[in-house]
Amino acid sequence: MKRLLLMGPPGAGKGTQASYLAEKLGVPAISTGDIFRAHVSAGTSLGTQAQAYMDAGEYVPDEITNNMVAQRLRNPDATNGFLLDGYPRTLIQVAHIDDTLATNGHRLDAVLLLEADTEELVSRLVARAAIESRADDNGTVVRRRQEIYAAQTAPLVEEYRRRGILVTVDGTGTVETVRQRILASLSEASSGRPMH
Ligand code: AMP
Repeated sequence: MKRLLLMGPPGAGKGTQASYLAEKLGVPAISTGDIFRAHVSAGTSLGTQAQAYMDAGEYVPDEITNNMVAQRLRNPDATNGFLLDGYPRTLIQVAHIDDTLATNGHRLDAVLLLEADTEELVSRLVARAAIESRADDNGTVVRRRQEIYAAQTAPLVEEYRRRGILVTVDGTGTVETVRQRILASLSEASSGRPMH
């Protein structure tokens, strides 16, 4: 299992888990949110295009996001695998990553879904706002991000379940607890037992 996607609602702890898991698997963690933030900090034209969407809690348009990911996946470090964090987030992005991978005879091996309670997530995000002072973590934007996830990204869960590659993981509890659950679920999935 070398081509993975980690998904879950905003605040479910994807970023933290993605870095650990990617290191463990020896693949790069590719976070579209991190790449966009790096572009914003560096003041690139991509950063300028993305910033208004990010600050409002909206998704950056698919075309911009897809091009950026296609370019990132061409980097030699992603040849033998990767852990995507926060991409794809729309059905159009799903089609795009499918096509990109199919060009080289590849496909996603598994999609890990971190499940968590929305109320708990909102308080986590508000707490994180205090620490990181992210412009996209104020109360209104936190709610908007959850709405967008429900409308645009939740449908991906059914698509990946249908394909038989969805692995659901309880995302509540400490970072270490969730980490252990992820490892256990992944090894279960890669041993060929049915996923749930
Ligand atoms: P994240 O750190 O993953 O929560 O991403 C922060 C912000 O970057 C999101 O709220 C979006 O504005 C933008 N973003 C990240 N990934 C995507 C994506 N796959 N599609 C569209 N916008 C994205």
